[in-house]
Parts: sequence; structure tokens; C-alpha cells
Amino acid sequence: MDFDNREDIVVGRVKAITDRLDGLYEADLYFYNQPVTELRGGARVLVKGRDMGMYASYSYLGLIGHPRINKAAKDAVDRYGTGTHGVRMLAGSLDLHKELEETIAEFKGAEAAITYTSGYVTNLTVVSSLLGRGGYVISDKLNHASIVDGCLMSGAKFLRFRHNDMEDLESRLKNIPEGATKLVVADAVFSMDGDVIDFPKIVELSKKYNCWLMIDEAHSVGVLGKTGRGIEEHFGMEGTIDIKMGTLSKTIPSVGGYIAGKKELIEFLSHASRAYIFSAALPPAQAAAANEAFKVILDEPWRMEKLKANTDQFISGIQERGFDTMETSTAIVPVLCGDDERAFALTRAAQHHDVFVLPVVSPAVPPGLARLRATVTAAHEPDEIEYAMNVIETAGKEIGII
Ligand SMILES: *Cc1c(COP(=O)(O)O)cnc(C)c1O
Repeated sequence: MDFDNREDIVVGRVKAITDRLDGLYEADLYFYNQPVTELRGGARVLVKGRDMGMYASYSYLGLIGHPRINKAAKDAVDRYGTGTHGVRMLAGSLDLHKELEETIAEFKGAEAAITYTSGYVTNLTVVSSLLGRGGYVISDKLNHASIVDGCLMSGAKFLRFRHNDMEDLESRLKNIPEGATKLVVADAVFSMDGDVIDFPKIVELSKKYNCWLMIDEAHSVGVLGKTGRGIEEHFGMEGTIDIKMGTLSKTIPSVGGYIAGKKELIEFLSHASRAYIFSAALPPAQAAAANEAFKVILDEPWRMEKLKANTDQFISGIQERGFDTMETSTAIVPVLCGDDERAFALTRAAQHHDVFVLPVVSPAVPPGLARLRATVTAAHEPDEIEYAMNVIETAGKEIGII
């Protein structure tokens, strides 16, 4: 098979990407897929032999490399080895999984929880297990790709409302036939823009129109709420989400995804969701690390306070320097650049000054809204953040963004 002497859908798709990449390689504007070769404390990494400040991490509370979490993972390897005996339902379940699920349920204020091997697969399998033909799923336009894929896979009628626009959501709900099963689904914190869903209103509308409510807390656990429990705690509205989804790969420095909710829901998912039945269990080290991480969050409340202070410093500092940060109020800070080329150029300048930050360009965001998608964590120190902002400012001026 070769790509040069053939024309079909596969070749068309492959070439569209490889041609774009070749242009970026030639212009020294390619910064994706760079391996980190060493962790240097919480907020620094070694990349290509250079010590860099990390401003593209999802480890919002700086828990990657935490001694207690590392130890839990190592102990789990000593006790259980590195894999399981297969899928959870058959021989793959460990007491560690049960412990983790109890920890999650308690942390999220739910009766029970179930874990999967990624957040992506969690959304895919859960939306498609709950709904099928005849159902309706109503999803925010900017929801994560895994939600979109889950909705498509479910076969339910897939409606999208304008981003965080509750009037638009209501007008869609009004038009759904009486008696139909409805699932409203949204991110708590949006992964590209960093803004927070209008939670009180989405809860109110879900109740008014008799919908199931599912919220993806990938970027809100360990970010929102006084103790980091997420969006319900943030708004003082505990117990309002039916299907609480989250990931174990962001604030929780492991891998995996979970759903927390009523006992019946979890029992259903553990006997009917295909990713649980047909895909291997979380490895012991990752389950143990995740379990310990939830405890560390509660034991070290200073991390939440420091994240909040660092977020405020970073958002206000970037805005004062003249950048547009859209509607963010969280640790995800879009630094708007305009066209893709400017976002790539700003990335190159930042990385050349040892600020590890990455661009998001179309089609991940609309054309003209290319940006740096910068993040701060509890592991950064104020002077490091100041340095990073100064680097971004100088480069932003040279490129003509500010
Ligand atoms: C990252 C992310 C996921 C996927 O989680 P993984 O554990 O990385 O697969 C799902 N939803 C949102 C909103 C995310 O940001």
C-alpha cells in the first residue's frame, strides 16, 4: 500500500494531515507530541534536555509525583503485580477497585461509583448504555469530544444547544415530544475555554422538563468547590446531578474515568456497559494511585487555596498585559491569538524561553479563535508565573497580538 499513487478516502484523509504537518515542521512551528523526559518537582519538566516551566498540565493540584501517591502505586505493584486477570466482571476485579469506587462515591457525595479505564471511554459507554433510539440527548455545543462521540454512538436524537446558552437549551427542551426520555449533558468547566456551566439554571431546566442530568467534571474536580469536590460544592447545590462523570487523569494523577450516582444506576452500568464488560480492568498501580489522590486532596486543603491564588494571578496578569482570555475563571486560561499561525508563533517563542505551553487551533476551536491554552497549577510559584507571563507578553508584542 502506498500513499503516493492512489486516491481514495483514506489517502485523502492521511494527506490532509501530513501536508499540514510538513508545513509546520519546515517552519519550526511544530510542538505537539514532545516527550517529557523527567519530572522536576511539581511544575517543572525536562524536555529536549531543557528545564521548562509546565503551563500545559491538567495536574491542577500539582499531585503528579506526590510521595504518598507514588508509594501507594508502588505498594500496589508489589502486592498485585502490574495487570489484572481480565475484565472487571469476570476475574479482573481487585479489592483495590472496590476501595477506589467507595472513595469516589464518598468524595462525590453519591451512593456508589464505577470506574473505567479512561474518561473518554466512560462517556462513550455510559451515554450509549443509557440511551438508544427513541431517546433524546441535549448537549452543549462545546462539550468534550468523548461526550459527542457517546451521543452519536447511542443512536438517540442528538440535539445541541448554543454554548452555555440556557435560553437556547430551554427552546430545544420545549420542542421535544411529551413523554420522551431526555438526557441533558454538559461539561462543568469547558476544556478549551475554561468557563463554568450555568449550573443553577441547567439544574432548574432539567427538573422543569423532567430530564436526566449528566455533568462531566474532568476539569472541575480539584478545581471548583472549597474542598475540591467539584461543581455541586461550588454552587452549594449538593445532590443535584444524576450522573456525575469524572476522569482520573487530570487532578487525579492516574488514568481512568468514573461515574458516581445512585446504587441502581451503578449496578446497571456494571452489568450493561460494554466498556466495563469487554475491556480490561484498571491496573493495580493506577487504581491505588487514584484512591490515594482523593485522600491527599482532602488532607492538603492548601493546594486548593494555592490553585485559586495562582489562577487569579495568571488570569488578571494576562488580561492586564492586553490579552483576551475569553470567559475563563478557572485554571484553563485561553490566551487568544487569532489565526493559527500566530498561535504557533507565540508557542515557539514561549518554548524557546522555557515556558512549556501549547496551542489549540482549528478544527479543535473555530477558525480565528486559535489560542494558547495555558494552565496553572497549585505547584507553580508566583515568581515563576510572573516570568511566564512576561515571556508571553514580550512575544505577543513581537507577533502583533497585543
Ligand atoms: C479529558 C477529558 C475527558 C477524557 O478523559 P480521559 O481520562 O483523558 O480519557 C472527558 N471529558 C472532558 C471534559 C475532558 O476534558
